Parts: sequence; C-alpha cells; structure tokens
Amino acid sequence: MRIGVPSEIKKQESRVGLTPESVGDLVSAGHEVFVQSNAGVGSGLSDEEYTAVGATIVPDADAVFKSAELIVKVKEPQPEETARLTPAHTLFTYLHLAPDPVQAKGLIKSGCTAIAYETVTEPSGGLPLLRPMSQVAGRMSMQVAAWALMRTRRGRGLLLGGVPGTQPAKVIIIGGGVSGTNAAEIAVGMRADVTVFDRNNNRLAELDAQFNGLVKTMYSTKASLAAAVKEADLVIGAVLIPGASAPKLISREQLKTMKPGAVLVDIAIDQGGCFETSKPTTHEDPIYDVDGILHYCVANMPGAVPRTSTYALNNATLPFVMQIANKGTKAALNENAHLAHGLTVAEGHITHEQVARDLG
Ligand code: NAD
Repeated sequence: MRIGVPSEIKKQESRVGLTPESVGDLVSAGHEVFVQSNAGVGSGLSDEEYTAVGATIVPDADAVFKSAELIVKVKEPQPEETARLTPAHTLFTYLHLAPDPVQAKGLIKSGCTAIAYETVTEPSGGLPLLRPMSQVAGRMSMQVAAWALMRTRRGRGLLLGGVPGTQPAKVIIIGGGVSGTNAAEIAVGMRADVTVFDRNNNRLAELDAQFNGLVKTMYSTKASLAAAVKEADLVIGAVLIPGASAPKLISREQLKTMKPGAVLVDIAIDQGGCFETSKPTTHEDPIYDVDGILHYCVANMPGAVPRTSTYALNNATLPFVMQIANKGTKAALNENAHLAHGLTVAEGHITHEQVARDLG
C-alpha cells in the first residue's frame, strides 16, 4: 500500500504520524511510504533518517495526499487537509469529531474513510491508542509539579523527596487509572509521600499490590479528599468518567484550607478539569495562582515532549497501520473488530454511533 505522512499543521503540534523505525518496518513489508519534507523535525527526526529506511521524501502536503492511499497523522485534519481527502483515502489519526461539526462536514464531503485513534479498543476493554498519552501526561505531571513547587516559581519551596532528616512532600493523586498510576510511579521514584484516591475498590487493591506499600490508597469521598487536601503539598487531578465531564472534586472554598504555595496539576483539564478553579493553560504560560495555590492546567501535556510522545504513540499505532497496509482498509476493518470501533466516517456518512449522536 502507498502510505503518506504529512507534517502536522495544528498550532503547537510537533509530533509526527510515523517514526523512521515504523517506516522501516512498513517498507520491509513491501509498502511505499511518502513523508513530507521536515515532517519529523519537531520530534528530532530528520529527512535523512526517513530516507535511510526507504521512505520517499516529498516537498509538500499536496504531494503526500496525491501519492498515498493511507494517510497517517496525529491531530484531527485541519480544513486545508480535509480538502485534500478523496474517496480513495483512508485517514488514520486522532479525530475528536464529536464537538467539531466543521471537520465532520468536511470529512463527510470528502468521501474518505476515517478511522479515529481514540475509539480503537482492545480485548481488555481499554483504549490502546489513548493510553500512551495518559502515560506521558501522568509521568510529566510530577516533572512539572516538582518545578512548580520550587520557591523560584512561587511554590512551597519543597523538594519532592526531601533529603534525609526532612519531610518529603505530601502528594495526593486523585484517580488511580493510567495517568494517576504513572504519576505515582514517578512520585515514588522521587521519594515523595504518595496517596492515591479512587472510587474503584478493585483498582485500589491492584495499586496496593503493585506498589507493595510504597503508596497509600484511599477510597475517594468528599470527606476523605477534603481532609487530605488540607495536608497536601501537591494534588494531581487524574480522574475520568468515560463520556462525561470531569467531576469537580476540590472547590474554590477548599483552597483556603490548603497550605500556601501548594500546587494543583489538573491532568483532567481536557475533560473540563476536576478542580472548580481550573481553566486551560498553554505551555507558554502554564501556571496561574488562585488564593496562593498554584494551578497547572495544560490540556496537551504530551505536546511538550513530542519525541517521547511520537514514539509512544507509534508503538501503539504501528500494529494497526500494518494491518491496514497488509490487508487493505476494508478487510482489516472486517477482520479486526477493535480497529472497526475506530471507524468514524465512511462513504459520506458518520458511522460511529456515539459520534453521530453527539453531532446531532
Ligand atoms: P483512566 O480511566 O485510566 O483513570 C481514571 C480513574 O479515575 C479511574 O481509575 C476511575 O475509577 C477514577 N475516578 C473516577 N471518578 C473518581 C473520583 N470521583 N475520585 C477518584 N477517582 C475517580 O483515565 P486516564 O487515562 O488516566 O485519563 C485521565 C484524564 O486525563 C482524562 O480526562 C484524560 O483525557 C486526561 N488526559 C489529559 C492529558 C493532558 O495533556 N492534560 C493527556 C492525556 C490524558
């Protein structure tokens, strides 16, 4: 199959759809890959690395879309990209179509087949193409929090792990799923005092076993959270209720009970945030202060570490790209029900029930 990788053109997006390693595997399997010149530069990947594994570098996006049947991207297509799509194309990327009627209309009009990363499933019921970004956000949350806690950033002036003879920072992680667990792993590694809150008792038991006593676990109620928040130096919001906005778990009133210079990192900001005082921020200006409590609420945390994020995403997408390329889109979708869950647009119609309902 002929596969195309255009440069990402959405603002602040430096990831790329395929790494040279993935391209190498696809070329070895007999496919042709066309990469837009400099598509990988934001992730530290040069045109030479792509040509070394057999890719053809083409000068612009037009050439990518004209050369390829399967387009592999990261972000939802921007209007000029949608305009290049035809019934001959399969698009494989994050789509997030439900709140985006303009993009939906464009994809319907194009006649292309669009498969969304975010709704591809796996046998255990998880979302394998969302997981890598939650892993990145979870691990990164501790990195940004350690920085925000420094006095030079107006934080409490604490080292997360302390040193011998001093108290480590008290870290509360609300939500013990993918991002919360990854945050806990780094926090424990940095020797902080870590408690994970969740409402799923099975999850709490798994975490208790996984960390072998190195993290405390608590059932998440209004009262248990309120007590813990008063003592916390750092709170990570990592909750998710699938298909719903994040519940507000810390009120503005409660900020007054917290230690001055404590830090809140709201990973769930992309679902509206789980603190009443959260509002989305950007990597340029990530932190703001409400009543002396620092808030970090960047909605695309993986965007700051595009190289890691590109590789993490590709590790998850490559098996599906390979199936589509080897079998053709129709056969791959027929044979793999998990990939088929990602099918969102085909032959001028929205084919994903939930997305169609949300778009009205
Ligand atoms: P997940 O489903 O793996 O975990 C969520 C956990 O929250 C579950 O264990 C669930 O039981 C728990 N939970 C639900 N309600 C709770 C409550 N009231 N109290 C305590 N725990 C509760 O989800 P995830 O993959 O870790 O994603 C978490 C959030 O992070 C999502 O909104 C996701 O979209 C977002 N995210 C943001 C970024 C970013 O850049 N900001 C990046 C990736 C993911």
